Amino acid sequence: MTIRLASPLIHDSIVDGEGLRTVIWTQGCLLRCPGCHNPHTHDTAGGFELLIEQVKMELRQTKAQSGITFSGGEPFLQVAACVEIARFAKTRSWNVWCYTGYVYEQLREDATKLPLLREVDVLVDGPFILAMRDLRLRFRGSRNQRILRLKQGLLA
Ligand code: SF4
Repeated sequence: MTIRLASPLIHDSIVDGEGLRTVIWTQGCLLRCPGCHNPHTHDTAGGFELLIEQVKMELRQTKAQSGITFSGGEPFLQVAACVEIARFAKTRSWNVWCYTGYVYEQLREDATKLPLLREVDVLVDGPFILAMRDLRLRFRGSRNQRILRLKQGLLA
């Protein structure tokens, strides 16, 4: 299996969730939020493909990470690939954060999205809304976005 990425993995990030994190930038997003900071990640045929096994190999070599963060792009467009990576992260006792342009309630009602939702420990949800942008927010771009702690897909 492969995953389509917008960029190589970023290690040691302190701005994409709590602790030291490896960020996985998924490619492809259908939402087109005005003011999106990552328009190059929208094209579902853009970026490049990487074997999941190669992602795992790179994660095996990383040290002192608290967890991984899926960002993008829209991770929930690549559920199966992200689930496999998230499960691997759990074998290393890492936690899983995930950014999404969808809101939690939408994902919870969508059987195709649930497998990934169940692997996520912290979901940062909702589209970026330019009129609600707030540079003081930690880990979020606009005030409508929420940091939700989950347990097997349910609010913790
Ligand atoms: S959901 Fe995120 S990546 Fe997609 S358009 Fe909105 S801000 Fe950009």
